[in-house]
Amino acid sequence: MVLEIIKYGNPILRKPGEKIEQITPEIRRLVGDMFETMAANHGVGLAAQQVGYALQLMVIDVRDVKDRPSTMEIDGKLVAPEKFMPIALINPQITPLGEPETGPEGCLSFPEIYADITRPSKISVTAINQDEKTVHFICGGLLARAIQHELDHLKGILFIDRMDAETLEELQPDIEKIKKETLSKLNNKKLTRTR
Ligand code: ZN
Repeated sequence: MVLEIIKYGNPILRKPGEKIEQITPEIRRLVGDMFETMAANHGVGLAAQQVGYALQLMVIDVRDVKDRPSTMEIDGKLVAPEKFMPIALINPQITPLGEPETGPEGCLSFPEIYADITRPSKISVTAINQDEKTVHFICGGLLARAIQHELDHLKGILFIDRMDAETLEELQPDIEKIKKETLSKLNNKKLTRTR
């Protein structure tokens, strides 16, 4: 099922995700729904907070992006990232490895907003995947950027927090507009419920 994407202004986006202690049928269903939702929105990544759950869970798929390469290494060997996509990362642990690199980012919770963000170019990842197996890999390029963007979501951090002051100031009116729309939608929902 394709889920509704939570937009900026909804307080759940600021809520750190809880660790998933057990992969229940509900979690399995949520992972499947998040894969569908990410594909329907042409996203490269999606965090549980973006569909309304404050949990340590993200899904990633970089297959559709051809102009921004990704690298992936397992046990010291380079592998094709496409073979592992889409991937769910449950309770991910990430260690930065590479030098900082600046590149463009967008976010499904901030429609039409794009900005350059600086992040480590390479990371080491350990997590539980959709098959409930522990995975460990090193990645770079777009894949490393996407995972770090989603990891921020799992901590309640948003890419606007990482923009430089000038960019943020320039985008502020558009960001405020999204927030206002989200808040009025939330208020309408409350009103309908109490009526
Ligand atoms: Zn995002």
